[in-house]
Amino acid sequence: EVQRKRFIGGNWKSNNTLAKSLELVDSVVNKLEFDNLDVVVSPVSLHIVPVQQAIKNNVQVALQNIGHKGYGAFTGELSFEHVKDLKINWVILGHSERRRTPEISESEEFIANKATLAINNGLSVIFCIGETIQEMEAKETQAVLEKQLNPLIAQVKDWSKVVIAYEPVWAIGTGKTATPEYAEEIHANIRKLLPDQSIRILYGGSVTKDNAAVLIGQPNIDGFLVGGASLKEDFIHIVNACK
Ligand code: PEP
Repeated sequence: EVQRKRFIGGNWKSNNTLAKSLELVDSVVNKLEFDNLDVVVSPVSLHIVPVQQAIKNNVQVALQNIGHKGYGAFTGELSFEHVKDLKINWVILGHSERRRTPEISESEEFIANKATLAINNGLSVIFCIGETIQEMEAKETQAVLEKQLNPLIAQVKDWSKVVIAYEPVWAIGTGKTATPEYAEEIHANIRKLLPDQSIRILYGGSVTKDNAAVLIGQPNIDGFLVGGASLKEDFIHIVNACK
């Protein structure tokens, strides 16, 4: 059977003053002790360098988004060259807050193209997918996930640089965590679509210190992408549950 190294991501979203982000490094990130796990935190891009410099252990940092081209005339965008120059290895792409916020509305193709560009240039990507409550109720979950994944599957060659985060939109920031049975079923279905058994599939959506242990006990759940609980001490308990 394939062994998959567990992965825990902390998505800090668009929160915190710089002082608060650095306090979070001191009070949570630098308290983490682990080996044989990947732990990655994702502050806003403006904070990423000071956060990276303040980290004293093997926790890595991730950008929350990346531009669709390399260096050039793309005012306001960050390119993979900027990211690589600062030795940042990870990028979150396709978060539902970027797919589904009406003013942002990133398309499946746009996200998959950005992911492919990042991967082809040596970065690793946390690729988020997930259905809305309406889609789940209409039994469209599998179709939605395939629509989000297919443009990636069509382009990516090096899957060692990809982690999939299954995040049902109805579970994000709502306290309505997917049941372990539901998450496991969806993860198993996602795994069938992927070209390689070694690709990690994370669950995201109201993961807490209280539900982490039972979720990580599911055979197809390889870790978490954590929002709210990554902004507090609970993140330490979640990482510990994955050891
Ligand atoms: C997320 O933002 O990726 C997320 C899963 O948020 P939360 O843990 O707060 O539901």
